[in-house]
Amino acid sequence: MTQLYGGCHCGNIKLEITLSDTLESYHPRACDCDFCRSHGAAYISDRNGAVKMTAARESDLRRHRQGSGIADFLICNNCGVLVAVSYQEEAALYMSINSRAVSAPDKFGDAEVTSPKQLSDAERVQRWKELWFSDTAINILQKR
Ligand SMILES: [Zn+2]
Repeated sequence: MTQLYGGCHCGNIKLEITLSDTLESYHPRACDCDFCRSHGAAYISDRNGAVKMTAARESDLRRHRQGSGIADFLICNNCGVLVAVSYQEEAALYMSINSRAVSAPDKFGDAEVTSPKQLSDAERVQRWKELWFSDTAINILQKR
């Protein structure tokens, strides 16, 4: 198990990540859509890991929908850093983390480019469920 920390630039959103393998074995997936490219985002996830996100206030967490509109991009409302992407299905919250928003982004394996825009929505959801963290939690310290 590897413990990893991260979050946005200003610190309003924090991440605690547990990975089941070593950092080098994860290859951040750089999505080639315009939105992810403009954020320089490359994602990592671990079906057997866990992620806990903590936001200082409800208003710090912006949930942005784009593209197919079925996933939420989680962005800090204060500093604008894209920290993660999530997909909710009933009680289950699946999540993938922006590898550039963690404490040791250069310790991962080589990034690879993916083209999820070529998949149908159903294929995408199936892929997320297979690859993304499913042991997830979002804690809001101050609700408002
Ligand atoms: Zn921030």
